Amino acid sequence: MKRAKMFFLGLALMFSASAMAADEEVVIYSARKDHLIKPILDAYEKSTGGKSRFLTDDAAPLLARLKAEGENTPADMLLTVDVGNLWNAAQEGVLSPVDSKTLTTNIPAYLRDPNNTWFGLTIRARTLVIHKDRVKENEISTYEGLAQPHWKNRLCLRSSKKVYNQSLVAMLINRMGEEKTEAMVKGWVANLAQPVFSNDTQVMEAIAAGQCDVGIVNTYYYGELMAKKPDLPLTIFWPNQQDQGVHINISGAAITKHAKHKAAAIKLLEWFSSSEAQRLFADLNKEYPVNPAVDPTPEVSAWGTFKADTQNLEAAGKNQAKAVMLMDRAGYK
Ligand code: FE
Repeated sequence: MKRAKMFFLGLALMFSASAMAADEEVVIYSARKDHLIKPILDAYEKSTGGKSRFLTDDAAPLLARLKAEGENTPADMLLTVDVGNLWNAAQEGVLSPVDSKTLTTNIPAYLRDPNNTWFGLTIRARTLVIHKDRVKENEISTYEGLAQPHWKNRLCLRSSKKVYNQSLVAMLINRMGEEKTEAMVKGWVANLAQPVFSNDTQVMEAIAAGQCDVGIVNTYYYGELMAKKPDLPLTIFWPNQQDQGVHINISGAAITKHAKHKAAAIKLLEWFSSSEAQRLFADLNKEYPVNPAVDPTPEVSAWGTFKADTQNLEAAGKNQAKAVMLMDRAGYK
């Protein structure tokens, strides 16, 4: 009898130990692809013992899922690209603010929510890519400049349906006001050499093929394309260096409102902002670390230094609806 009791006690202890481990396992809904998140979570486990698992999908279905699941959601953290998506999730009330000195120290203020709901983890610049033989550096300077007749039939753009362009235009509205921004977008549309493309890589391939001379793309797509085809006649140009700086955006993360493993999730989020994780995050997708203590890779550094627009990215969310309507009025498809 005694032995049996001891046996059951042992079994109970074993179960509670494994329940505890599962208890601390952070569940992430990730709009970043598996190969961009798995190595980072593996490194986390290796360096801290912290466990996690993730489910990947696009940002919109993940947000819909969080809303539908409500307080029953298994998700502790939402990880996604573009501040527009993070801001939307915050508006939908599925996120929880986090009070963390580590996060506010490691991440500059303009890259996180003023209410501490979402936090940037990597930076991508949405900059200009030019044909290096067909564009002289002294003929180009700003996003607004691309609206001048000088660029007639020389501009290629990705669709306005992509959140990256919505965020860009939303931040330009914040800086220049709606009227000037609308005039600029109309000018862009008038200068298009081709119908809008469905991704950034197609924009750059059109430039390389001589179908247009300049386009607006995220830096990591340029990095990816040039790594595959280093002989393409393309180069990066940093616009608005005399004024507001180049538009940047983030990938980022937030703790969910109904997180079951909140303390463990905050610990993981804090680790994401550490030097070790920042190096991985930035390097895996040729992005820039948000933590100023960490340098980008030599490959990314070779694109040159630039002045970034440091308006708080919250404005991209706040002006998103305005930006969408404005682009529609301007005929930007
Ligand atoms: Fe992207």
